[in-house]
Amino acid sequence: MVYNTSQGIVPGKINVHLVAHTHDDVGWLKTVDQYYVGSNNSIQGACVQNVLDSLIPALLADKNRRFIYVEQAFFQRWWRDQSEDMKKTVEMLVNSGQLEFINGGMCMHDEAATHYIDMIDQTTLGHRFIKEEFNVIPRIGWQIDPFGHSAVQAYLLGAEVGFDALYFARIDYQDRAKRRDEKKLEVIWQGSKSRGSSSQIFTGAFYAGNYEPPTGFYFEVNDDSPIVQDDINLFDYNVEERVNDFVAAALSQANVTRSNHIMWTMGTDFKYQYAETWFRNMDKLIHYVNRDGRVNAFYSTPSIYTDAKYALNESWPLKLDDYFPYADRINAYWTGYFTSRPAIKGYVRMMSGYYLAARQLELFRGRNKSGPTTDSLADALAIAQHHDAVTGTEKQHVANDYAKRLSIGYKECPLLNISYCPATEVDLSLGKKIAVIVYNSLGWKRTSVVRIPVINENVTVTDSTGKVILSQLLPIVNASIAMRKFHATAYMGESPSASPMYWLAFTAVVPPLGFSTYVISSSKSSASIKPISYTFDGSQNGAIQIGPGDLKLIYSGNDGKLAQYINSRSSVNISMEQSYSYYAGDDGSSDLINFQIPLTVFRGPLFDEVHQMINSWIYQITRVYKEKEHAEVEFIVGPIPIDDGVGKEIVTQIKTTIGNNKTFYTDSNGRDFLERVCNITDSASKHCFAYHNISNIRICVDLIMFSYFAKIRDYRADWDLEVNQPIAGNYYPINLGIYIKDKNTEFSVLVDRSVGGSSIADGEVEIMLHRRLLNDDGRGVDEALNETVCVLDKCSGLTVQGKYYLRFDPLGEGSKWRRSFGQEIYSPFLLAFTEQDDTWTNFPVPTFSAMDPSYSLPDNVAIITLQELEDGTVLLRLAHLYEVGEDKDLSVMATVELKRVFPNKKINGIKETSLSANQEREEMEKKRLSWKVEGSNTKQDTDLRGGPVDPVKLVVELAPMEIRTFIINFNSNLVKYRLYVGTVPAGSMGKYMMFISVVEGRNIG
Ligand SMILES: [Zn+2]
Repeated sequence: MVYNTSQGIVPGKINVHLVAHTHDDVGWLKTVDQYYVGSNNSIQGACVQNVLDSLIPALLADKNRRFIYVEQAFFQRWWRDQSEDMKKTVEMLVNSGQLEFINGGMCMHDEAATHYIDMIDQTTLGHRFIKEEFNVIPRIGWQIDPFGHSAVQAYLLGAEVGFDALYFARIDYQDRAKRRDEKKLEVIWQGSKSRGSSSQIFTGAFYAGNYEPPTGFYFEVNDDSPIVQDDINLFDYNVEERVNDFVAAALSQANVTRSNHIMWTMGTDFKYQYAETWFRNMDKLIHYVNRDGRVNAFYSTPSIYTDAKYALNESWPLKLDDYFPYADRINAYWTGYFTSRPAIKGYVRMMSGYYLAARQLELFRGRNKSGPTTDSLADALAIAQHHDAVTGTEKQHVANDYAKRLSIGYKECPLLNISYCPATEVDLSLGKKIAVIVYNSLGWKRTSVVRIPVINENVTVTDSTGKVILSQLLPIVNASIAMRKFHATAYMGESPSASPMYWLAFTAVVPPLGFSTYVISSSKSSASIKPISYTFDGSQNGAIQIGPGDLKLIYSGNDGKLAQYINSRSSVNISMEQSYSYYAGDDGSSDLINFQIPLTVFRGPLFDEVHQMINSWIYQITRVYKEKEHAEVEFIVGPIPIDDGVGKEIVTQIKTTIGNNKTFYTDSNGRDFLERVCNITDSASKHCFAYHNISNIRICVDLIMFSYFAKIRDYRADWDLEVNQPIAGNYYPINLGIYIKDKNTEFSVLVDRSVGGSSIADGEVEIMLHRRLLNDDGRGVDEALNETVCVLDKCSGLTVQGKYYLRFDPLGEGSKWRRSFGQEIYSPFLLAFTEQDDTWTNFPVPTFSAMDPSYSLPDNVAIITLQELEDGTVLLRLAHLYEVGEDKDLSVMATVELKRVFPNKKINGIKETSLSANQEREEMEKKRLSWKVEGSNTKQDTDLRGGPVDPVKLVVELAPMEIRTFIINFNSNLVKYRLYVGTVPAGSMGKYMMFISVVEGRNIG
C-alpha cells in the first residue's frame, strides 16, 4: 500500500499541521546520560539514542515525513558517535527540511529559576554548534514544558535570537480558558517595555495546555490508542472511525483557534523510540483524512505553521508582562519550585558567576586547546538550566548528578562559605605567608570586604603596594564550626584536620577586569582588630544600635528584634520588623517562628555583625558594613524538623511601614522588573498571619482562608483571577530582587539565588528560603522533596546557607543599588590562594587590569560575556542594566570605548550578531517576520537602539535594556598576557589549587 503523504496547505480548508516531535528532558527521573543510553529503565523506559537511531531510517523511508529535534545536549551525544556516512545523511535531511532543529539550546531551559545570562549562554552553546555543523539557524522557540513563561524568554531568548515564533503549553488554566473563548491563545507578546516593538514575537499557547497529541492519537509501541487498521483482510478494520475521530478533534481545536491553521503536537516525553510506528500511522491518517476531505492533514513543522499564519497577513492581539505564576488546575500552583532545592540553586548561581570570570581569564591567558578549558563547565552549567534541573523538580539522584557535573569545573575552596578552605588554614607563625589574589570580573572598579578562615590571630594584611591595611577578625561561632565539620566530612569522607579560629576580613579594592593581591602573614601582635562582642539577653531596656557607618540598624533591647533602619546620608528612617514562619506542607497553614533571645553583637571597624539563634535550626547573621548602605542577612536554615510528621516551607517576612497598595515588583530572570499586584486585604492577612498561633485563629487559617479568600478577586493583567490559593497564587520567581514603594520610599530585597517571593500584605516582603516536604506532589517525580546530607549512615535534613540583602532608598533612588549591587552579587570576587615562605616578598605583578587604567565602563553597562571562541575570535556581550525611566541619570544611552576596554589589542574586525551569536545582526533583522498587532497600524514606539559601530572609532552605544553581541577579530599579532597557571600543594589535604598570576604582557606573534 502506498500512502499519499505529499499534501501541503490547502487554502479554505482546516489545515491540520502534524508536528512530529519528542520531548527529551535533559535529566528528570533519570540523569541525562541514563536517558541517553537508556539505562536505569526500571525508573522510566526511555532511551534517546533509540529515538535518534530509529528516526533517520523513518525519515529516509518517505521524503514527506518531517520531524523536529530540540535538545542539543542529547543530539551532540549522538552526533559524536556517528560515522561520516551517517553524518552526511543527517545533513541531507536537515538541508531538505525533513529534520529541523527547533529551539536549539543545549536544553529547554526553565524560565523561572534561571538567570538571563545562563539562558543566553546555554542557547549560544547549542546555536553555535548547529551553525558550525549544519550551517543552520533555528527559527522557532519551543518551550513546551517549562512551568510558566517569562518576559525575558519572549523578548531576549525569542526576538533577540531571531526567532519568528515561540510556542509553549503551560499557562494558567483560567487564563487558557479565557484565551480559548476569545481565540487569543496566539498573540504578539511584547516582553520588554524598554525595548518596545522590537521585543515583539508571535507566540502560541497550545490549546489543551499540554504538548501531546489529541486523545487517541498516541502511536508509541506500547501506547493504547487504536492504530489505523486499514487492511480489509484483517479483523478490526477501523479507517472510517479513525478518520471521524481525527476530524472531530481537528474541529474542536479549530473552534478555539484563529484562522484555519491548527497544530497537532504529535509526540511527548521520550517518544519515537521506534519512530516507524508513529510515522506509519500518520502516513495513513494523512492519506485517509485527505481522501475524506473534510479537513486537510499533512506533515509540518512549527516553521511551516508559523509561515502559514504569517501569510494570512492578519493582526494579532498584544500580550504584555509574562505568564507567571502557573496553575494547571484549581489549587495547583507551580510556585514552590521557585525555591525548591535552594542549595542547588545557589550552586548554579555561584558557578554561573565563576564561569563568566573564568572565560575572561581564559581569554587573557589564551585559550589552551590541549590544556584545561572552560568547556566542561559550560556544558555542566547549560544542562543545569533544564526545566527539571535548577528548578528542583527532579529526583534526588538526578539533582546529585547535576551538582557533580558542576563540581568538576571549580576547585578553589568550594566550601569557603562554611569556613572550610585548607589553602588559607595554614599556620603562619612559622613564617609562611598566604597570598590572596582577588579577581574582579566587572567592568568597573570595585571595593568589597573579603573574608577567609585563618588559624592564627596575630596576622597582618598587606595590599599590592606592601602597605598594611585595616583588617578585622571574627570568631568562628559554634554553630558554624559544627556545620563546617559535618559538611566538610560529608564532602571529603573524613573530618577536616585543622580548625580555623577566625574569619579574617579586609577590604579589597580591585580594578576592572583585573586583580589585586593581598598578603597575609603573622605579626608579633595582631594588626587585625578583634571584635568587641556584646550579648543581650533581653533584660536590657532601650535600643541596640548596629553599624559603623551611615547605616544603622536599631534592635529592641528587650525582645532582640530588628525595629528600625536609619541611613543618615539619605535621611531614610523607617520602622521595620523581621520574622520567620513556615507553611505546613499538609494543609498550607502558617506558623510564626518565635525569635529566641539572646542576640550577640560583634563590632568592628569594617562592619558589625548581629548573631541570632532564632531557634534550634535557624541561625541568622546580619551584617552592616561601614562603606555600604545595605544590610546583608546570612541565614542558615536546617535541618528542618519533620518529627511532627509535617513538611515545612520556611519563609522570612520583612514588615515595613511602606504603603505599597498591593503592588510590588519582581524581576524577570534577573533583567526587567515587572509590576505585580496582590489583592489580599490587609486586615484579612494580618488577621491570619499575626495571630495564627492563637488556637481559635487557626480556624481562620484553615477554613476562612480558603472560603473567605476564595471570594476575593485577585489580580492578573489578562484575566479576572479566581483566587483559591492566596499565598501560592501570589508567589513569583525572583532571581535579582523584589521591591515595594510608596510616595516617599522604596524598599528592595536582593537575593543570591533563585527564590520565590511576594508581598502578601502591604508593607511586607516575603521570600521562601527553604522547603522540606514529606509527600510527593503526584506530578511524576514520585519522591518527596526531602533533601538530606549523610555522613556514613547518619543522615540529616539538608541545611541551607544563603544571603539576602535589603535596603531602603528615597523614592526613585533604589534602582542604582538594585542594578549595580545586583551585578556584584552575580559576579562576586573570585579568590585564588597560594602559600609562600618568608623569602618571598611580593608578586611580580601584584595588581592588574586588562582595561586602560584610566578607563572604566559606565555605571549602566556590564560585560556579560567575554570569551575566546575556538577559532580564536572573541565573543563580547555588553548589557545596558537599566530600563527606560528606571533611573533619572542612568536610563540613558550609554557608550563603551572598545579601544580602552582592550588597550593592548588591535581590533581588526568587529561584527554585530544576534544574541546567540549564530548570525549577523543585520541579516537577522532583514529575515525576521514583522507581525501586525491589533489596534495599531504602525509600530507604535520608536525602536531605541544604539547605532552601528564605526570600525575606526570603535565606540558601542547601548540604549536602556539593550544587549549587544559582537564577534571581534583581534590582530593576530596581538598582545597576550601570559598568565602563569601553576599548581602548588596546599593545605594538609594534599589537594591542589590553582594559582593565577600575570607576570608579563608581551607580544606573541
Ligand atoms: Zn520536560
